[in-house]
Amino acid sequence: MKPKLQQTDLIIVGAGPAGLSAATAAADNGLSVTVIDEFPEPGGRMLGQFHEEQGHWWVGKRIADELIEKNRAQGVSIRCGVSVYGMLKVDQLWEVSTSHGTWTAPRVLLATGAAEIPMPTCGWTLPGVMSIGAAQVMTNVHYVKPGKRGLIIGVNVLAMAIARELSVSGVMLAGIVLPPGGPLAGKAALPRNNLQVLMGLSHLAPSPILRFGGKIAYALGMAGIVSSLFPRRGIKLWDIPLKLRTAAVSINGTDRVESVTLADVNAKGEIIAGSEREEAVDFVALAGGLYPLAELASVAGCPFIYTPELGGHLPLHSERMQTPVEGLYVAGNITGVESALVAMAQGQLAAASICSDAGVLGEDGDRKVVEAIGEVQRVRASALIQFHPGIPEARRKIYRMWQQTYEAGV
Ligand SMILES: Cc1cc2nc3c(=O)[nH]c(=O)nc-3n(C[C@H](O)[C@H](O)[C@H](O)COP(=O)(O)OP(=O)(O)OC[C@H]3O[C@@H](n4cnc5c(N)ncnc54)[C@H](O)[C@@H]3O)c2cc1C
Repeated sequence: MKPKLQQTDLIIVGAGPAGLSAATAAADNGLSVTVIDEFPEPGGRMLGQFHEEQGHWWVGKRIADELIEKNRAQGVSIRCGVSVYGMLKVDQLWEVSTSHGTWTAPRVLLATGAAEIPMPTCGWTLPGVMSIGAAQVMTNVHYVKPGKRGLIIGVNVLAMAIARELSVSGVMLAGIVLPPGGPLAGKAALPRNNLQVLMGLSHLAPSPILRFGGKIAYALGMAGIVSSLFPRRGIKLWDIPLKLRTAAVSINGTDRVESVTLADVNAKGEIIAGSEREEAVDFVALAGGLYPLAELASVAGCPFIYTPELGGHLPLHSERMQTPVEGLYVAGNITGVESALVAMAQGQLAAASICSDAGVLGEDGDRKVVEAIGEVQRVRASALIQFHPGIPEARRKIYRMWQQTYEAGV
């Protein structure tokens, strides 16, 4: 028997900041909206996030609760614990296959977010080894400490943001160190590369070395020189030792994590023989970075482009969040890894675009889309957390590519 089809004007996959912001804006303009998310509760990655921003705390859970409340008041149907695994266009309608039946709609917005890049390390299958995102969810969503004393392997923006959250939540960290060198870690194992990442974050840093030294060095392109001057014992960021000249060689233990073997490295990330020692910890968080979670766009037939500044392969899309596949839109981290505030602004832009294409905005459609594009640019320019350098330029390149191919009718 064919499963029952449930029809709506707009299906949104993903109840994170992008999906929830789009849903409330689209419902406000009269569309019936269904949001589907496989996590047991809505909010996406915002549920575990908090940052100190210009003297106040940005608490993701609070923003998520406000958005959920708005959506419920507008009659948006939010279906959690439902996984989307397929999409097919039949007679101008998308059939969206899920673990709980099939939904249909003329328009679908994919707001599926980002996923973590795995970082294979010797000993990473031991219980007590987790991704940095899992440590964030355990601590900030489920209020369970991942262990008594842990170590973060991998230096990137996500690692720094979550280290701060763990430390505020009372989780003890022995330090943040580099991954072992080799083809799997690539540039992530080089002290110079990591210092460049941190310099981009110097405005956030509590340490004067990073705050002032970082700014000057970044401006002068001095990462190579500064990395060799970086103290071998590391510097303390929010009481967490950050060690850019130390790498994790292996994670050790019999049936759970008991220690990590650390060693000093030279500027090329190579181990300095004889410097190996053991650090006793009972959990390890691996921080390999993020990539856009975009498989559903591929299933729907959307072409992809490779943009390292935005996290890797992502669905080709216009500045209005349209894809080349009719009736398919994207917003949030699926279009490139940026902060939750940017994702929210992109969700509102996608909703303006969808409502304009659906004809429910009348003659105001174009004006509202242009205003929403301006808002995304404004939020992006003031975003405190920037996962990669060069995001605005990379975005401009994508939109130019879109104009040259699709708008020019190629
Ligand atoms: C582990 C991790 C930690 C992060 N921590 C921070 C941080 O501390 N600070 C920060 O600024 N940014 C952080 N980010 C970046 C974060 O992704 C953005 O801040 C923001 O949450 C992106 O919003 P979004 O709506 O695009 O996606 P998300 O918030 O990721 O929401 C996407 C939703 O889509 C759902 N979904 C995905 N695929 C399917 C499917 N097939 N079927 C049904 N549902 C699906 C997911 O369950 C999820 O709820 C983190 C990202 C990750 C992956």
